[in-house]
Amino acid sequence: MLKWISNMRAWVIEKIGPFDGKNLVLREMPEPFIHEDEILIQVLACGVCHTELDELEGRAQPTFLPIVPGHQIVGKIVALGERVSRFKVGDYVGAGWIWSSCGSCSFCQRGFENLCPEFKGTGKDVHGGYGEYFKIKEAYAFKLPTYATYEFLAPLFCAGSIGYRALKLTHLTDGEPLGLIGFGASNHLVLQVAKYLYPHSPVYVFARNPQERELALALGADFAGDIGDPPPTPLQALIDTTPVWKPPFYMLRYLQPGGKLIINAIRKEDKDRNFLLELAYERDLWLEKEIKTVANITKQDIEEFLKLAEKMQLRPEIEIYSFEEATKALKDLKDRKIRGAKVLKVSS
Ligand SMILES: [Zn+2]
Ligand SMILES: [Zn+2]
Repeated sequence: MLKWISNMRAWVIEKIGPFDGKNLVLREMPEPFIHEDEILIQVLACGVCHTELDELEGRAQPTFLPIVPGHQIVGKIVALGERVSRFKVGDYVGAGWIWSSCGSCSFCQRGFENLCPEFKGTGKDVHGGYGEYFKIKEAYAFKLPTYATYEFLAPLFCAGSIGYRALKLTHLTDGEPLGLIGFGASNHLVLQVAKYLYPHSPVYVFARNPQERELALALGADFAGDIGDPPPTPLQALIDTTPVWKPPFYMLRYLQPGGKLIINAIRKEDKDRNFLLELAYERDLWLEKEIKTVANITKQDIEEFLKLAEKMQLRPEIEIYSFEEATKALKDLKDRKIRGAKVLKVSS
């Protein structure tokens, strides 16, 4: 059944430059037209991610302009392409950063869709969820868990699932100490997941903002210090979500032999990269320490993570903004007014 095309309201990135609240504008545009293998989703909520600021300000350039950003989407199916078989109209589904991959390259065939040269990021290479309607191929949509209301589920689609990918890449075993650098939307979920999967592992949080440290302790962190503080014990793994170089690389000295630094960031700012010249090989890298970055996400990561979230009844700390308040939500994110994750309530 194809839905008759009409207009919708959507926030679009009009031009790249410092985010001043004016380069993201609310406008009328046609509802997405769905192809035979696609579903049309009425967006109920969309999580707000730092990547939207990176897109707006040009650190992660969208492929075209104007574009609707947003990649933590939950909603209800209102129309289906004629070859869609997994879903029906009325189903509640979600979508994340992976909008599509080619499915046939060597990366896709080995389960590394996230590294596919044809990877399309939702809200960056195709229109995303800061609009009343959004479309995606059925293969890249996910049935929503039912344990929480939809506003709480939106942050699971990037902050949660990419954080989960980062945690998997640590190959942590229960009892080994984990450090988290930065405590925004992603690491506040990683903390809770790590505590569930590795109940005997101490988790230490390092964040500049005292409110973030307070939240970390309230959510079960064993220690919360400022960035640069030494951890109570050497670490087996560190997950970094900051946009800068010094915090994670400075902390390499606190990794145990064989320890891993996982960088969960789409980009790093140039301003403090000179710090890399201060690295000392023996102190910071020798003894088989590893550094790995997290790029994108696979369908399997999201599937596994949604199951895990349901099993542990994972509930993000959220701040809800109305659809009209999208620029305020991003401004607050930019000003680091953060407590957990921010969510735009698009429609109800
Ligand atoms: Zn994101
Ligand atoms: Zn591919």
